[in-house]
Amino acid sequence: MTALELISLVTQVLFVGLFVVVLWHALRSKTGAGFDTALLFGSVAAVVVLSKLVELFGAGPQATVTTLLLVLLSLAPYAMLRLVDDFSGTPRWVQVGGAAAYLAIAAAAVTLTSQIQLVEVILIAWFLAVGGYAAFAFARASGRTRGITRRRMRAVAAGAVLFIGAVVFLLVGELLPTGGDVLRAVGQIGALAAVVAFFLGFAPPAWIRRAWREPDLRQFLERSIHLVGVSDERRVMTELQQSAAAAFGANGASIGISDGVRPILRYASAAGGWLEFPEDEFIAGWAFRDQRRVVAFDAAETDPAHAETYERTGARTVIAAPITAEERRIGALSVYADRAPIFIEDDLWLIELLADHTAVLLEARDLARQATELQAREDAARLKEEFLSAAAHDLRTPLTVVLGQAELLERRLTRDPHAQVDRAGVSRMTSEARRLRDLISELLDAQRLEQPGTVMDRVTLDLREIVEAARSRRLEPGTGLEVSVPSDPILTSADRARLEQVVDNLVENAVKYTPGQVLPKVEVAREGAEALLTVIDHGVGIPKDERDRIFERFYRASNAQGITDTGMGLGLYICRRIVEEHGGRIWVEATPGGGSTFRVALPIVDDAPEPDLVATEPSWSAATSVEAAADA
Ligand code: ADP
Repeated sequence: MTALELISLVTQVLFVGLFVVVLWHALRSKTGAGFDTALLFGSVAAVVVLSKLVELFGAGPQATVTTLLLVLLSLAPYAMLRLVDDFSGTPRWVQVGGAAAYLAIAAAAVTLTSQIQLVEVILIAWFLAVGGYAAFAFARASGRTRGITRRRMRAVAAGAVLFIGAVVFLLVGELLPTGGDVLRAVGQIGALAAVVAFFLGFAPPAWIRRAWREPDLRQFLERSIHLVGVSDERRVMTELQQSAAAAFGANGASIGISDGVRPILRYASAAGGWLEFPEDEFIAGWAFRDQRRVVAFDAAETDPAHAETYERTGARTVIAAPITAEERRIGALSVYADRAPIFIEDDLWLIELLADHTAVLLEARDLARQATELQAREDAARLKEEFLSAAAHDLRTPLTVVLGQAELLERRLTRDPHAQVDRAGVSRMTSEARRLRDLISELLDAQRLEQPGTVMDRVTLDLREIVEAARSRRLEPGTGLEVSVPSDPILTSADRARLEQVVDNLVENAVKYTPGQVLPKVEVAREGAEALLTVIDHGVGIPKDERDRIFERFYRASNAQGITDTGMGLGLYICRRIVEEHGGRIWVEATPGGGSTFRVALPIVDDAPEPDLVATEPSWSAATSVEAAADA
């Protein structure tokens, strides 16, 4: 056996094998494209088998066999034309014209048996014209697809070009009186290359399929993995849908999510918000209900109840798969396109895989959310504990004094109902009760400020006024304030009561943590786009490594204890929350020569004071906290 004969034999076996494979697929998928592919390779396989039989048994009159072979062979370009229509659509006249031309050529082959060479020339022209058009159309259609479908379409286009070339070379080789051998040899090699390309296109082996699918999957994962940490569920669904549609090269995709309680699926609406439908509505709903993938080549016809929706969204073909993790039915993923899928088995495989990936992703999100909630619960429990222990400890001292004094007074009155009023004792009780009230206010305030959005009542105000007001509140001797303000207003948009609370707190601390009667200094200045408020004292200072921590809840610096036992470590935390709610910053620096410098930076407002911004809810101020505590 020569090399060429071997090539020819291998080619023939492959063509017959390919026919068997595509016929099997066609019978399983029952799609038009499946049957047209079977027709294409059926015609070639029939030619191969018939010639082999003739070669082996020499059966039948030569002319009849030749006619039959030509009729069968000329069927191949027509089958290609039909495939082009299946894959990318062609005008109706092309299909009708193609069918008529095929019938005419078959008739010519049957009637012109004496002029076989003329029939062969017609056949060459038929192959070149229709086969060439088909190859071009496949190549163009591949450009409109993505991923594995594109690769398979390219292989089909290459197979078509090689096949046409091979047949033309073989036929021309037959026709030439001399030198035909070379053309036939080229034709043989071309035919082998064609069948290999067709195999890759129509029935790629599993390992090639895997390699071709991999980029789509990777892209889907790369595009969607970050969604695990995104809290906006609508955004997650929208992005997942986009990624799924991109992986398919489809018009769009939609994800319906079950809430696990009601029998509905929720879909992220393109217009914002969510749309809810009974869980067994739409093709996606069927996939969810039956927990299996569903294909509808003509969605409007398959699910007439929602024909209008499918038509409006250009969803002619819909493929859906359930999103399920273990036993948990999460939802359904559906992908829709304006034409039937070219290689449905790849699409079915891909949608199942994407649905599985989506399930994993949504599960991961759920776990992350649960972990966050658990963390939040633990934080809340810890906060409550801290709150209770701080409160118990700090409230006990003044309460003990009040109680002690009250009991003392009671005993005195029991012994001598006409005894003189112990003024010092009563005033001690009053001052300790006040302290108790302030501590409770602070605790309530800190708790209230845990929630964002507590600073509501913002107006444009001059920081200089706030500082002046703070000075006028501190007129007792020895508690005064040194103030330094610029001549121009320093405007910021703030909640007046809250900002005053910050200034008072910083000033009180400055006094509290400064032994002797050295007055703190308050400065207001403008620095770039920020209004800067500075409170400077020459007190005990704060150890360097604790300067950030003093703004945490209940944190008191290691050098604070010996100086004063009044304080729970909440004042600066409250200040920080208020400043942050205003979009500002607060920090502390060491003052040269000892002491601390607290700085607050707030965004500056350049315009003249605007009319007050409308508060959406009544603002809650320090004053109300004190009243609330007093009422309690
Ligand atoms: P406290 O009620 O303990 O004063 P704060 O939250 O106001 O709570 O302050 C937290 C801690 O920061 C204080 O306990 C103290 O250690 C430190 N601190 C605050 N202001 C000053 C200051 N001006 N000088 C020195 N230390 C200060």
